[in-house]
Amino acid sequence: MKNIFSEIRKLKKEKGALILAHYYMSPELQLLEKDGGIADFIGDSLGLSIEATRVKAENIVFCGVKFMAETAKVLNKAKHVFIPDKEAGCSLASSITAQDVRELKKKYPGVPVIAYVNTYAETKGECDICCTSRNALKIAKSFNSNELIFIPDVYMGQNLQGVLEAETNKRLILWNGKCEVHEQFTGSSMNSIKASYPEAEVLLHWEVPRETVAAAFQKTKGVLGSTNDILKYVGESDAKQFILASECDLGATLKNLYPAKEFITPCIKCQHMKKISLTNTLQALKSIGTSNAVKYEIDLPEDVIERAYLPIKRMMDFV
Ligand code: SF4
Repeated sequence: MKNIFSEIRKLKKEKGALILAHYYMSPELQLLEKDGGIADFIGDSLGLSIEATRVKAENIVFCGVKFMAETAKVLNKAKHVFIPDKEAGCSLASSITAQDVRELKKKYPGVPVIAYVNTYAETKGECDICCTSRNALKIAKSFNSNELIFIPDVYMGQNLQGVLEAETNKRLILWNGKCEVHEQFTGSSMNSIKASYPEAEVLLHWEVPRETVAAAFQKTKGVLGSTNDILKYVGESDAKQFILASECDLGATLKNLYPAKEFITPCIKCQHMKKISLTNTLQALKSIGTSNAVKYEIDLPEDVIERAYLPIKRMMDFV
């Protein structure tokens, strides 16, 4: 293990590359280079998108899933963006196509379309603005229209609708996409964990089902929000135990940041995120500048980049 870390660090220098890693990566990929790991930046979707625009290196290796690497490419079209496994997909991103959005727009003419960043670049290109879980609410509230199309996460949409209803008269038209990880946190599983840890507070991602949110907050304090909201909440809370309803390896991030606190989770892992490993990260780096690079490099048609740029750029203005 030690050897592969140093080999990756050496290759990064030789190839003029840096590594961006998502919070849902396995713990060994979530270690910054300055702490003995390989990553130059660790973050959520929005944090990584922002970092992608600041990057000076000519080559970016993205340890995350494909839609994230595509976003980095759209924001850095002159740079080379690599993903260690192009098959690292996402059940939300694959639930909707650009054609589906065109049909929605025909069905609801003039209604603005907000795309969660968990969509492919071609789909984003048909939308007015993108959002991440961190700024979705702020973006929805910014529109004058009382009707908004929100794609593709139905649970996140229902959770956002709950907050919007209390504060505005906006109605979201939803798509039926689901995150295959967060949909597994059910109301009954939440109730049984709560029964075993009655002192624990709850940490829920926007992508969990509505009934889970209701069960979680019954007589219990906690937060419903983005990955960043969850990290912030734990830092500010006096509680010692937390029930985590999000991807399992976010627990590793939390434990690194708050070693004195305990995180209880059924540990549901995203099979797509887990396709990325130290080994294929090393292979992607080795490929840079060789004919093997096509296996790892994100290659988007120019017109897709052009169309997706504006909705992503608008999202970044809502940081
Ligand atoms: S955790 Fe869910 S939303 Fe995130 S990449 Fe995996 S399937 Fe997609």
